[in-house]
Amino acid sequence: MNDTPIKTNLDEQNLDTVLRPSSFDEYIGQDTVKKSLKIILEAAKLRKEPIDHILFYGQAGLGKTTLANIVANELGGNLKITSGPAIEKSGDLAAILTNLEAGDVLFIDEIHRLNRMIEEVLYPAMESRQLNIVIGKGPAARTISLDLPPFTLIAATTRVNMISNPLRSRFGASFRLDYYSVPDISEIIRRSASLVGINLDESAIGSLAKASRFTPRIANRLVRRARDLAEVRKLGLIKTEDLSDLFKILDIDEYGLEYQDRRLLDIISEQFNGGPVGINSLAAALGDDRDIIEDIYEPYLINLGFLKRTSGGRVISEKGIEYLKKNHDSQN
Ligand code: ADP
Repeated sequence: MNDTPIKTNLDEQNLDTVLRPSSFDEYIGQDTVKKSLKIILEAAKLRKEPIDHILFYGQAGLGKTTLANIVANELGGNLKITSGPAIEKSGDLAAILTNLEAGDVLFIDEIHRLNRMIEEVLYPAMESRQLNIVIGKGPAARTISLDLPPFTLIAATTRVNMISNPLRSRFGASFRLDYYSVPDISEIIRRSASLVGINLDESAIGSLAKASRFTPRIANRLVRRARDLAEVRKLGLIKTEDLSDLFKILDIDEYGLEYQDRRLLDIISEQFNGGPVGINSLAAALGDDRDIIEDIYEPYLINLGFLKRTSGGRVISEKGIEYLKKNHDSQN
């Protein structure tokens, strides 16, 4: 039997660093995005210019920050990370921008939450790498302009439709990250398992892939919990039957659905006769924020084909009804 010792000296924090791909070769899937990025990088290198500002959008955990990191590595610059809600005043952004060095990549996560007034400071910084600062107040106020070093802004968002048009138009390229295919997420699981030193048989890889919501961050979380299981149970090889306890502990089912996902389907089916139901009524019945429903539960349920969005509201599909039935039967 293949029984590599588990790398016990890796703590949870270290695991993050170990698992995060640092080059395009290690970054699995999203081939179209990778291909386009490589061309952008290559062209900028030939012209000896900084690359255009880039926007990544898509669900949380799909690899936006990781790509920003890889681009910074490729450019040989530093990656400075901040987020929309962390920039509270225009002065905060001015401080970040004036601290950049030539070739740096500034990564702003959740850019849709950047205050509109602050956004305006960003426009000249993106367009002509200029920072305009207003000094003083009232009639004595004047604006001074500072030159910024050549830098690249990479922004990420889970809600591209909440980004204003003027901001969106200032990115030279924008890329949508989608859920991973089964082969790609399986490959990520294989890679992560080998990095944390556990052995999964092919059926276990298949089960983890199915439960991963086709999202690398979740896939990696499952691999870490599988590692705990292997450690506690002294498993040299993890098989699919070993995983049912793991899913129970995490309160997820074979599709990676959690309690609230299942309740959402249940509510549409029971309280609203299968739908259509408007998002606000659904949020009230579920007792969750509309944003969480739209950002987290819904996209994956739609991807699974359990839920549909129609002009009249959300509707449970045949497949969703079958799933609920199976789920209820297995509980009785
Ligand atoms: P986001 O910024 O979109 O929320 P991250 O870039 O933080 O997502 O990715 C979450 C984790 O998933 C990362 O720590 C990384 O280890 C892993 N990951 C993301 N994309 C990939 C990929 N394409 N291949 C392998 N691992 C990935």
